[in-house]
Amino acid sequence: MGWRPALTAAALAAALFGIGCSQPPPPAKAQGRVVVLGFDGMDPVLTERWMAEGLLPEFARLREEGHYQHLPTSNPPQSPVAWSHFATGLKSGHHGIFDFLRRDAATYRPDFSIAKYTAPDDLNLFGWHLPIGEGTLENLRRGEPFWLTAQQSGKRASVFRVPVTYPPEPVQRMVSGMGVPDLLGTQGTYSYYTTSRVDQAESGGRVVLMRMQNDGGVQTRLDGPQHPLKPAEGVLQSDLHLKFSATQVEVTLAGRTESLQLHQWSDWWPVSFDYGLGSIPGMVRLRMLAGFPRPKLYVSPIHADPMEPVLPLSYPADYAAELAARMGRYHTLGMPEETWSMNQEHLDEQGFLDMVKTTLAEGEAMLQDALDADDSELVVKVFVQTDRVSHMFWRGLDTTHPLHSESSALARGAIPWIYQEADRVLGQVRKQLKPNDELVVLSDHGFAPFRRAAHLNRWLIENGWLALQPGANESQPLFAQVDWSRSRAYALGLNGLFLNLQQREAQGIVAVDQRDALLSELRSALAEWRDTDGTAVVRRSFLGSELYPGPESAHAPDLVIGYSSGYRASWQTSLGAAPAALIEDNQQAWSGDHCIDPELVPGVLFTSFKPETEIEGIAAMARFLLERTPAGPGH
Ligand SMILES: [Zn+2]
Repeated sequence: MGWRPALTAAALAAALFGIGCSQPPPPAKAQGRVVVLGFDGMDPVLTERWMAEGLLPEFARLREEGHYQHLPTSNPPQSPVAWSHFATGLKSGHHGIFDFLRRDAATYRPDFSIAKYTAPDDLNLFGWHLPIGEGTLENLRRGEPFWLTAQQSGKRASVFRVPVTYPPEPVQRMVSGMGVPDLLGTQGTYSYYTTSRVDQAESGGRVVLMRMQNDGGVQTRLDGPQHPLKPAEGVLQSDLHLKFSATQVEVTLAGRTESLQLHQWSDWWPVSFDYGLGSIPGMVRLRMLAGFPRPKLYVSPIHADPMEPVLPLSYPADYAAELAARMGRYHTLGMPEETWSMNQEHLDEQGFLDMVKTTLAEGEAMLQDALDADDSELVVKVFVQTDRVSHMFWRGLDTTHPLHSESSALARGAIPWIYQEADRVLGQVRKQLKPNDELVVLSDHGFAPFRRAAHLNRWLIENGWLALQPGANESQPLFAQVDWSRSRAYALGLNGLFLNLQQREAQGIVAVDQRDALLSELRSALAEWRDTDGTAVVRRSFLGSELYPGPESAHAPDLVIGYSSGYRASWQTSLGAAPAALIEDNQQAWSGDHCIDPELVPGVLFTSFKPETEIEGIAAMARFLLERTPAGPGH
């Protein structure tokens, strides 16, 4: 029976025999907490298979004792969109998150859709830019998350690492998740030190070419944030001295020297970037990937240090440091998993998985902190590790993936491992719940293979809807080579297609009264798009105007592309490039995805109790959870 409330003898008698009594009936539910665990990207097909095989005993028990169902996801089924549905109970037309990226119609450039920092005005004085005021930091998600509604009605909420919670919101305690930048202001820029000129980073990282002395010594630098007061001086730097042997490296950085073994992560390494009038504290982790004579060293993005946060990482503001004092330093970047570095072969598989173990343990410690404090009626924690491992290792599971045959044993075991880890976390949490607590476990979407990368902008060019300038370099991102005077449509983001509309786009040519006809023309053609083997590339396409009524609809794509299973927009498409091929085999480690037709990738929902009806979709969770959360003290 676990923690479910035992019926008292009187209540049992009343229930069985209809015995009335003079006392008022007992409350339907004694005060207990609502504890919500999110496992990003947990897929129903895999979950059901592994429950049946006995690999996930805790999930199987929860299903038996309570309730299990598929949870329909958002359209498109992307994490920031789906978790915004979850938080606010609204759809994208109202909460404003349509994709990881949103396009600026004035420039056709993609912007990060989740959070926005506007620097303060500054006073330019002798080359020093002195900020006037604080600048503003804004979560671009609109609507009110249910934990805030709960908190405002006296129900206390502890919320950890939920995507799209930056800056943090004023609840009992919050640690922000996806949206928190690194010290460079990016979503994660790593550094890769190498002596090989062929190493390159397409995105997400910077390659630093090392000049090594004969004794294995290297004098180089770690680039930090921009000089805050003198932007013309470029970035602040910290000296980095390395001495490589075949199996270890002696690192001197920020006044500390330590030896690292090959394939071993360092502990957090505090780094402070001095700018004369002060310094900016951050921290990195390092990993040696190869030794002398051709050494390689990986340095993580520079995280804000939770001990001395220079970014708003938590609510209350000093909670980040309090937590770090109890559990040690932890990853603070919103999306810390090293997917880009591994995709570009700048980090090894074991390094990636060791890092996942660390972030998982950190997440457990945060959750523990709130469960121990036992002062919140609502506790919400999202674990994203299930999603990240599924992205990077799907090729190990999917026997028809182009990279399956060359997948390592580690790659083949990674997804079963992370699901079993999720099961272990669930078991740990269940042990600590009190009899009246309620447990809800959900995912934001499921998963599918990503075998073929569709260059949607190339498809638009071949069909005459997008035009490049003569002699264009086709792999230029950001539509650098597009001739807008001859272009009627363009693709940007992972599921979005936009018309080049007059009075909206800066160089729009499609008249507003031609919009509907062009959209139907595009939809018919998309439905006919076939891969070389005859498979339909697009399962369904959706009209933005139908999906997204609401005050934020100006940011919506005109069409949302629901790819078939196995397909996804290419990375180049998402950033506005159009390589020569129409569709290509996906040859990168990032081999599973979910940005397809949402019907194909529902999430999962488990509850420790039996709800009156099935939950109709992820946007219905906000109200459902708010209603189940008991009143706070004094109510
Ligand atoms: Zn994902």
